[in-house]
Amino acid sequence: MTESSYRSLPSVDSLLQSEEVTALVRDFSHDAVMIVAREVLEKARETVKNTGNAPTTDTMISEIVARADSSWGDWPKPVVNATGVVLHTNLGRAPLNAGVAAAAAASASAYSDLEFDLSSGKRGSRNAHISELISQVCGAEAGIAVNNNASAVLLTLAAITSANSTNKEVIVSRGEAVEIGGGFRIPDVMRQSGATLVEVGTTNRTYVSDYEAAITPNTVAILKVHPSNFVVEGFTHVPGLADLVEIGKRHNVPVINDLGSGCLIDTRKYGLDQEPQAQSSVSDGAALTLFSGDKLLGGPQAGLIAGQKKWIDLVSKHPLARAVRIDKITLSAIAATLISYLRGAHEEEIPVWNMISMSESSIAHRAELWRREAGIGQVERARSAIGGGSLPGQTLPTFVLTIEPIGSVDRFAEYLRQAPIVVVARIENDRVLLDPRTVLVSQDDAVIEAIKFAVAQSSK
Ligand SMILES: *Cc1c(COP(=O)(O)O)cnc(C)c1O
Repeated sequence: MTESSYRSLPSVDSLLQSEEVTALVRDFSHDAVMIVAREVLEKARETVKNTGNAPTTDTMISEIVARADSSWGDWPKPVVNATGVVLHTNLGRAPLNAGVAAAAAASASAYSDLEFDLSSGKRGSRNAHISELISQVCGAEAGIAVNNNASAVLLTLAAITSANSTNKEVIVSRGEAVEIGGGFRIPDVMRQSGATLVEVGTTNRTYVSDYEAAITPNTVAILKVHPSNFVVEGFTHVPGLADLVEIGKRHNVPVINDLGSGCLIDTRKYGLDQEPQAQSSVSDGAALTLFSGDKLLGGPQAGLIAGQKKWIDLVSKHPLARAVRIDKITLSAIAATLISYLRGAHEEEIPVWNMISMSESSIAHRAELWRREAGIGQVERARSAIGGGSLPGQTLPTFVLTIEPIGSVDRFAEYLRQAPIVVVARIENDRVLLDPRTVLVSQDDAVIEAIKFAVAQSSK
């Protein structure tokens, strides 16, 4: 039985000669297609070994085509974010505005004066232009952009601790020696940077006096970390940045402020708690203020450091700065994003702010349009989240289209993900929720089509 099942398996050559696989060989390399065919054949042998039955040749051919599509098709695949989570790290955090994306594309597809001085015709600085923009939006003396905020933290600590061969102590509150997510733990990063972690206070309460008592001749910095993905409630205390700067001044120790999300505008305007603003950190006297490019700034993945010129110079000259250097495509996108703020056009131009500031009535109107066009569900009040390590626990009132499918909700959500334009929804209380806030207006039709597709699949 098994012997004959093995014998019934086609050869690699006969798979390659089938019409569908021949078509693949025309588009891609013969060798690459052969590797996929061998993998599928190997899997078929496993199936025979485990079950005694061989898959049909047609099944195997379909699998080769499916594997080729998923490996060699567009990636990452664009998806519609109907979860209502504005900064969804798994979905790529902040989407870029078309103008910003165009700036990135233009810099990607041509030569530029990235590190070339047009007036002298000699080598220029990659960082000079972005330093000026960061300074202008934050009110700082200088700035630098690197790969992401994780590398900004690592680089800053490494630069500050390597400036002196014996002094390595960096003071941080116990309540801030946290994990930011994705395995990024402040104590680990500090170790990697060569810093000696000096924890002060307790998880819920740390006072100015705790910092002051921990300062020794070996102290090189005080690090403040914004708890960007959790809230400690109740009996808590942390000193403000200005108080830490005051102690730092007395002992000649710089304060490094890791803000995380790096918001430039006052979030109270949108009924949210106040997210610390980069400008306030600079004006309160932080030597270096660190934040992400793709959280509330609404730009590409990057780490931005704003601060006093002497400290920015120190950071820029450290060898790690070269290792975490930002590429030209991202640099153009960051520049275009910052200019949007300088023009005061962020609310209209930057998708993240566009979504956060979207009026409830326009959201309700779109949810109603989806309901009417797709012919299913109910429009109800719900909450959208900010997400992505910004404003933890904070939500905005919204309207969603809720669907109670005939079959399983998980299955319905899966059908939405299989639609021609993929839609990612949220599941809550055994219902599928679709939030217009995080869906670009140009994607309304895609959502309606995906719902119709999922309804049709569910009733099969
Ligand atoms: C998100 C975050 C980081 C890491 O930033 P990435 O840009 O994701 O590398 C570091 N510190 C804080 C406080 C954060 O919130």
